[in-house]
Amino acid sequence: MNKKPLNILQLYPQDMNIYGDHGNTLVISQRAKWHGYTPNLLTYNPGDIFPDTVDIIVGGGGQDSGQDKIQEDLLSIKERLSTLADNGTPMLMICGLYQLFGKFFKTQDGHIIQGIEILDIETHAGTERLIGNITTHSSQFGDIIGYENHSGQTFLGSSVRPLATIIKGAGNNGQDDTEGAVYKNVIGSYIHGSLLPKNPAIADFLIEQAAIAKFGEFTPTVIDDRFAELAREHALKRPR
Ligand code: GLN
Repeated sequence: MNKKPLNILQLYPQDMNIYGDHGNTLVISQRAKWHGYTPNLLTYNPGDIFPDTVDIIVGGGGQDSGQDKIQEDLLSIKERLSTLADNGTPMLMICGLYQLFGKFFKTQDGHIIQGIEILDIETHAGTERLIGNITTHSSQFGDIIGYENHSGQTFLGSSVRPLATIIKGAGNNGQDDTEGAVYKNVIGSYIHGSLLPKNPAIADFLIEQAAIAKFGEFTPTVIDDRFAELAREHALKRPR
């Protein structure tokens, strides 16, 4: 049986997958099943052939060294990813790959890791790590809750909008109260945890966009989210 297949691609799981960011792929996969689709999980690592058909793309965080390692390969698939993003393919990029979907990440020692400029953002390493539990609010997704750990401070340009505003924590840069960035259906965020188990509304958004693009419609199933709700309640009570 291969009913309504959705191809979900995880970018660079070998080098860009910290704090369980792969959990995001698992949540999308499971919820896609509950909504009546057949998820096909694909991975792409440096040197791989980029798949022909991709419906959702997911990427995680990584150390500066991991970002260095994938930089050249990422630049080699820049055109492909940009076209997909411009055409509305839903994508979720966390932390390290969020930064590299922007213009660049300038590290603490001053070297530039080039990004692919899908997101109009730039990131400069600060002297202090921005680390701890984070709560934000988005008009589209409600409260978005999780954990952040990054030295990069990200500043948004005019062709993206923030994903959320900060309630507790640092988010993009610890200065302007914004978290994450959105361009079309591409979402970038600093939030690990992983993000989607506690914030399933974002997973459903990605699935909905993919389903509409591929099958012309999306009829959601009502999912019993009591465990996600419980996790959200507990996470909200944590100290910074
Ligand atoms: N290396 C980047 C930074 O420190 C990204 C970190 C991450 O992905 N958690 O800003």
